[in-house]
Amino acid sequence: MLLIKNANVFNGHDNTLLEAVDIVINQNHIQTISQQPINDAGFEQVIDARGHTVMPGLIDAHVHITLSAAPHVLDTMTREEIAIRSAKIAEGMLMRGFTTVRDVAGNTIGLKTAIDSGYATGPRIFPSQAAISQTSGHSDYRQNRGQQRRNGHEDSPLMKTGAFAIADGRSEVLKAVREQLFMGASQIKIMAGGGASSTFDPLDTLQYTLDELKAAVEAASDYGTYVAAHIHTTPAMKRAAEAGIMSFEHATIMDDDIAQIIKEKGIFVIPSYFTSSLIAERKIPLGSESLYQKTERVGKAMLKSAELIKKYEIENLCFGTDCVGDLGVHATQSHELEAIEKVFDTITALRMATSNCAKLFNLSTYQHPYQEGKLGEISEGAYADLLIIEGNPLEGVACVTQADKQKVIMKDGVIYKNTLC
Ligand SMILES: [Zn+2]
Repeated sequence: MLLIKNANVFNGHDNTLLEAVDIVINQNHIQTISQQPINDAGFEQVIDARGHTVMPGLIDAHVHITLSAAPHVLDTMTREEIAIRSAKIAEGMLMRGFTTVRDVAGNTIGLKTAIDSGYATGPRIFPSQAAISQTSGHSDYRQNRGQQRRNGHEDSPLMKTGAFAIADGRSEVLKAVREQLFMGASQIKIMAGGGASSTFDPLDTLQYTLDELKAAVEAASDYGTYVAAHIHTTPAMKRAAEAGIMSFEHATIMDDDIAQIIKEKGIFVIPSYFTSSLIAERKIPLGSESLYQKTERVGKAMLKSAELIKKYEIENLCFGTDCVGDLGVHATQSHELEAIEKVFDTITALRMATSNCAKLFNLSTYQHPYQEGKLGEISEGAYADLLIIEGNPLEGVACVTQADKQKVIMKDGVIYKNTLC
């Protein structure tokens, strides 16, 4: 048993701190939060958090742990090399204070299991397994038009790692979704429109017919879970909303109509302001001029869509960085919190990176891998996933993102960093 004394608490929801409370951690759960002082006697460890704030561990709802290099570079790697790089990236996430992530394209179930059983260090992972797309869609990561599909995807080493899957027509889509569920996907990721970073699919293409999208949603919801869609344009979002897709990744180019539909249906939006600004400023190397042009368009549109998110008071917003690439890219993960604060405000940024993500993940029921406690909040019975921060996050997220102000990182009741005592 561990006691945290004299802490102020941001609980993941409220715009005010709970002041001077004592918190009992019993194994991997928060057992008690008390405004009456608790006697130190009998605790294995006592942390005095006076002047500090306890807050939920951060959650990133859009990461790609295994996509640790550009696709053509990943194509040259063995699975072992990709696995080792992924473990290092996962460890970096936890040591930045991210105690939970949702991976949305990658064969991460093995890494997730290794982390959960103590063989590797990293955040909790909600795996999507392969991102599913149509032939010629955003997941069709064959590296050139000469890589013809003969029997499966044997010509693309990257696709063989299980990061991407191709399925066309209702029956193949049903099967591809069920394959990911069999492997342990907690939700399904599909590509429902053109991509900004992919070479062959123009941004405005519609990907998957309404019936194919509905097939994906049916197979997922029959298994108690939901579909997250990579999606940029309004026509693609309208089709996806009609199909019942509940998690819009990027959702960059909105109009008033789709913003209203998103609000009415309670669809979750996961924008990535920092990564898209890096791309728009050409700070991430891309393969060609046309890729730069696509991503610049996306980067600019995203800020306009933020105005519609405010106008229609869309509250189901989640933190997602879309960090794809090597350790250097992932090192920027926390900057998204600052980018969101700039676009919206501090409390929105904090909620997006904690309780809002937990709400999204709860759309997954039987397939939810962490059902013994709440995530993304500081409450009695919640998992003991928390940070102790020097300062008050509600006055600005800078103290959350600075490593030297993150004094304690705890996940599942285990302390991974403690510079407080
Ligand atoms: Zn992504």
